Amino acid sequence: MEASDVTNHVIEDLVTGSLPWDQAKQLIRLDPKDNDRFWKYLAVLQSRVKWKEKILIRISEHLYVVAKGKDRIVKCDCGQEFGDYRMNWKLQAKIFVRRTPEEMAEVYSIDISSPETRLVELREYYCPGCYSLLATEVLPPGFPPFFEMLPDLDTLYREWLGKPLADESPGWFEDKTLELTAEWGRGGVKA
Ligand SMILES: [Zn+2]
Repeated sequence: MEASDVTNHVIEDLVTGSLPWDQAKQLIRLDPKDNDRFWKYLAVLQSRVKWKEKILIRISEHLYVVAKGKDRIVKCDCGQEFGDYRMNWKLQAKIFVRRTPEEMAEVYSIDISSPETRLVELREYYCPGCYSLLATEVLPPGFPPFFEMLPDLDTLYREWLGKPLADESPGWFEDKTLELTAEWGRGGVKA
């Protein structure tokens, strides 16, 4: 495989998991690489969703950061929006918490008599729009939802991709999650 062989079709097979493993390995090891692969990848992702907002990056199987007007928001492939990407999207998800060993044993092979199962809880985050399981996490009870990914999009696009985003600003790379919870604390309406 050469760089010129890496077509959108090949990338689409990679995205859908239908590319044979030996070819996927070739893609990873390709030297020199096709230097427009990220753009082909974005084009494939964009072609697979029904909405029009421009995808800036994919952050999980179902979630993307997209440009919407002057905002950058998290959006599910079903169309559900989770607000500003600088706020942990998990706070806008449907959450199911497994607290007891018996509840955890429904999805895990665990020894329910082990005292360790009482030290943590298992949280499942679902999309309010399509009810896809978006993430799971195991944390001590009371621990805030883990913010998995705050991408530095301006640096990615400027330094690594060589195409700076038009709305670059230092303010895009700030965790704003506490602003949302503070608003809830003041009795504000959930965004
Ligand atoms: Zn969804």
